[in-house]
Amino acid sequence: MPETASTPLHILRSVFGYENFRLEQERAIATVLRGEDAFVLMPTGGGKSLCYQIPALCLQGLTVVVSPLIALMKDQVDALRLNGIEAAYLNSTLDEYEQRLLASRLRSGSVKILYVAPERLVTERFLAFLATLNPVLFAIDEAHCISQWGHDFRPEYRELTRLKHLFPNVPRIALTATADEQTRRDIAQQLAIPSKNTFVSSFNRANIRYFVEPKRDAYRRIVQHLRQRKGESGIIYTLSRAGAEDLAESLNTDGFSALPYHAGLERETRARHQDLFLRDEVQIICATIAFGMGIDKSNVRFVIHHDLPKNIESYYQETGRAGRDGVQSDAILLYSPGDVTKMRRMLTIEDNPEQTRILNRKLQEMANYAESRTCRREYLLRYFGENFVENEGSCGTCDICLNPPAPLETYDATLLAQKFLSAMVRTGERFGAGYLIEILRGNKDKVRMEHLNLKTFGVGADLSVAEWRNVAQELIREGWCDREEGEYPILKLNERSKAVLYQNASVLLPKKQASKRPSREERTASASARNDAATPHNQGLFERLRVLRRNIAERENVAPFMVLSDATLIQLATYIPLSLEDIRHVSGFGEVKTQRYGTLFIKEIRTFADENGLWSKMQDIPQKRERLLQSEYSSDNFSPSRSASRSVNSSGDTFQETLRLWEAGKSVAEIASMRGLAASTIAGHVARFVQAGKIPLHEFVSEEKEEVIIQALRDADWREGQPLKPIKEALGEAYSYDEIKCVIAAYPK
Ligand code: ADP
Ligand code: ZN
Repeated sequence: MPETASTPLHILRSVFGYENFRLEQERAIATVLRGEDAFVLMPTGGGKSLCYQIPALCLQGLTVVVSPLIALMKDQVDALRLNGIEAAYLNSTLDEYEQRLLASRLRSGSVKILYVAPERLVTERFLAFLATLNPVLFAIDEAHCISQWGHDFRPEYRELTRLKHLFPNVPRIALTATADEQTRRDIAQQLAIPSKNTFVSSFNRANIRYFVEPKRDAYRRIVQHLRQRKGESGIIYTLSRAGAEDLAESLNTDGFSALPYHAGLERETRARHQDLFLRDEVQIICATIAFGMGIDKSNVRFVIHHDLPKNIESYYQETGRAGRDGVQSDAILLYSPGDVTKMRRMLTIEDNPEQTRILNRKLQEMANYAESRTCRREYLLRYFGENFVENEGSCGTCDICLNPPAPLETYDATLLAQKFLSAMVRTGERFGAGYLIEILRGNKDKVRMEHLNLKTFGVGADLSVAEWRNVAQELIREGWCDREEGEYPILKLNERSKAVLYQNASVLLPKKQASKRPSREERTASASARNDAATPHNQGLFERLRVLRRNIAERENVAPFMVLSDATLIQLATYIPLSLEDIRHVSGFGEVKTQRYGTLFIKEIRTFADENGLWSKMQDIPQKRERLLQSEYSSDNFSPSRSASRSVNSSGDTFQETLRLWEAGKSVAEIASMRGLAASTIAGHVARFVQAGKIPLHEFVSEEKEEVIIQALRDADWREGQPLKPIKEALGEAYSYDEIKCVIAAYPK
């Protein structure tokens, strides 16, 4: 397709500043632009919003987005506004006057995208009004709310099925991050979206690393993790409100900035804490699961679970709040088998054994995950019905893959297993491990009268309670008997137990680890440490840009991550663009943002380079910048197999083009005007070739100027690594940084 003003790709690049589509974005967008309905399933942070925002900008008319999250509407509208898009929202927070104002904006056709709560949309009054407005697209966000099977069913969503009859020619796009097969089918069926128009992306969150650590000395562990993540945003989930409060208080005492968040706090307090977190003014939120719905802060760098989540669904949803911007982030679970017992008691629903059994099964799957000795990512994706086959099931970014556990040594436990299972049979499969162990150890005080004469009474007195517990645990884990789900974990025989009892099957169990290797905890700690050496960006510059971003956000009255994402700041601090022309190539700088903030960021980068003597270390930067210009730069974790597809003037040649014209005898000013670029950009290109020895110094800096510059450097006793700013100030306007740098580069160190 030619890149005319309104193609999706053109809009992606010029309005949003992104180079390529991710996952199934492109196909979903093409489908609705053909006038067909579409159903998009993408993980959190995958980029669902663009699937309707880009068609909205391609089409002439109004796009209506149905969203149940009133708290998020304003954020989404703000974020669009920052990219220069006319958007608005309609919900119960607007007063009468604001609603009238909005209605007239809608009538005048100036609004491209309208967010509306479902209960409002389906009122007869609003539907009638809508019919007068020329709607061209309906987006149904959080579409799982339409299904009873989903985790967040909302009856008013059911009404949305009417849209198809009321506006038969307007395409609808439904979007959700729900991974559950049954819910997916239900949504597609209710909205009558054909399966050929369903776009499912992998739910793998490649930029999230998963770690499970023993929950010992939990507070100390958390502090260790936080020390490695200074200044980064994170959420710590706890089971109880009191736990969240205590943790936040202790962390503050220890010099971190943390606030609690849970349903027991006043509404206003909660809103304030959330806002401070969104705005990067507080680093850590210690929260119960009440926190998370309705925040889409993209730069959450870690999620720590202090306690075991109830099921894998919650765990995946909560950890999924990390790294929405695609930057590497960590999910750390502190696990203790004791938590499972504690949770099991909480999950018992009186008079509903069926529901209790389901909840317990889900809990057991969560515990299995924590105890698993195989790739965490593989486990999670398999749970959601996906086959993770990359590198033969090794993701390289979970604790197991980073530090594969040594194969377990085993011992022959056949006799122990026979004793244990036979105690189970002889007591009628009605007891848990604890009681069976009392029988085996011959504890007269604890064993019921009728069991004192069993053959197995006392046959296991040679093992301690702890040793027996371990045997029992391993027998269950390895599937030699079954544990009933429910409040009382009764043990039962299964086929394998019968083989042991009646067919003499031999049982090998893993020995308890008693190794000299560093503990699992120590190993994961070092693995999850931030490897700064591996990060190519300049951390000092990143911090500076963060401050600038915060100031801008304050002025715009939005959260900093909306101004520019962390991913964008990291690129700036990696490629160090020095002109507006360069900054345009950085992912996240669309036209409006380049215009509004580009100069501010260039100025800050230049100042930083001055103050830190970066100029003299710039030798490696031209290479990085070249890579940037060749657009090989994007570290977009959602599209590992990106194809570099810039069509216009394969801008990797931009330097070469300048060189060609320079060699043909053109001046900086001439080249700038011929190429329609800023003179400072061209000067930057030329300077780079001078420093690389491809253009003689005197073609760029006259001999007289060179002498003056050398004198100024001598007068100031300038040494490599020192800032250039004082030199530039001494020399005045007639001398540029580029010229100074070239002179410095021309002299052997
Ligand atoms: P979701 O709604 O699926 O959780 P969002 O729509 O909020 O995800 O997108 C997550 C982040 O990814 C946003 O910062 C968004 O701007 C960014 N994003 C979306 N699509 C792309 C893309 N093609 N390239 C780069 N970044 C993208
Ligand atoms: Zn792994």
